[in-house]
Amino acid sequence: MSVIAIDGPVASGKTVLGRRLAERLGWRALDTGVMYRALTWLALERGVNLQDETALTRLAEETRLKVGPPPPASSESATIIVDDQDATPHLRSSHVEASVSIVAAVPGVRRRMVQLQREEARQGRIVMMGRDIGTVVAEDAAVKIYLEASPEVRAQRRAAERCAAGATVKEASVLEELENRDRQDKKRDDSPLRPSKSAERLNTDDMSIEETVKAALRIAESRLPKEALL
Ligand code: C5P
Repeated sequence: MSVIAIDGPVASGKTVLGRRLAERLGWRALDTGVMYRALTWLALERGVNLQDETALTRLAEETRLKVGPPPPASSESATIIVDDQDATPHLRSSHVEASVSIVAAVPGVRRRMVQLQREEARQGRIVMMGRDIGTVVAEDAAVKIYLEASPEVRAQRRAAERCAAGATVKEASVLEELENRDRQDKKRDDSPLRPSKSAERLNTDDMSIEETVKAALRIAESRLPKEALL
C-alpha cells in the first residue's frame, strides 16, 4: 500500500514532517488529529455529555466530515467541515484541547474515524499522521515512522509555535497539557498510542525539521518501490 504512516505523541512534529514529505513526493497528506478535534468541537457545541459513549458514537456515525486543503496562509493543516459548519477555526481552542482525548478514547468514535481514514488510505499515495496509523488504520503501510522527542523539547517547540502565532503561553502549562494528553492517549483500551513493531523510530530531540525530513525521506526511499516515488 503506498501509504506513509507517521505516528507519535503530542507535538512530536508529525504534522510538519508529514506535510513536507507529501510535498517532496507529490503525495496527499492527511492529519487525522483534525478529524477527532472537529468531532470534539461539534460535541461541545451541541452540549453532548462527554461521558456518554452512546451519544458520542451516534454523533460520529451521523456527522458528515469533509477534510480539505488548509485555508490560504494558515498554519492549520486542513480545512474541516462537519455537517455544514466550518470547524477549522476552533480546532486548537482550549476546550477542544482539553477534551479531544476523552472523545478519541470512545471505541464507536474510533470505529467511524478509522473507517473514513481507511477510505482515504485505499486511494494510495498518501502520508497519514496520527496515533494509530501504523498499528490500526494502515497496518500494512509501506513506510512507518514513529516520532519521539522528550516532553521538555516538545513543550518548548509547541510554546514557540503558539507565541509565533501571537498567543501568550507559559511553557510549564504547555508541558502539563501535553503530558496529560499523552497519558490519556497511551492508557486507553482501544488502539492506544504505541509504536508499531515495524515502525522506524526517530528521536528528534537534537534534529532540526530539515534533518528530520531528510531522515524520513531516506527511510521512505529505502522502503518504497521506485514507481511510488515518481
Ligand atoms: O495530532 P493531534 O494532537 O491533533 O491529535 C489530537 C488528539 O486526537 C490526540 O491527542 C488523540 O487523542 C486523538 N487522535 C487519535 N488518533 C489519531 C489522531 C489523533 O486518537 N489517529
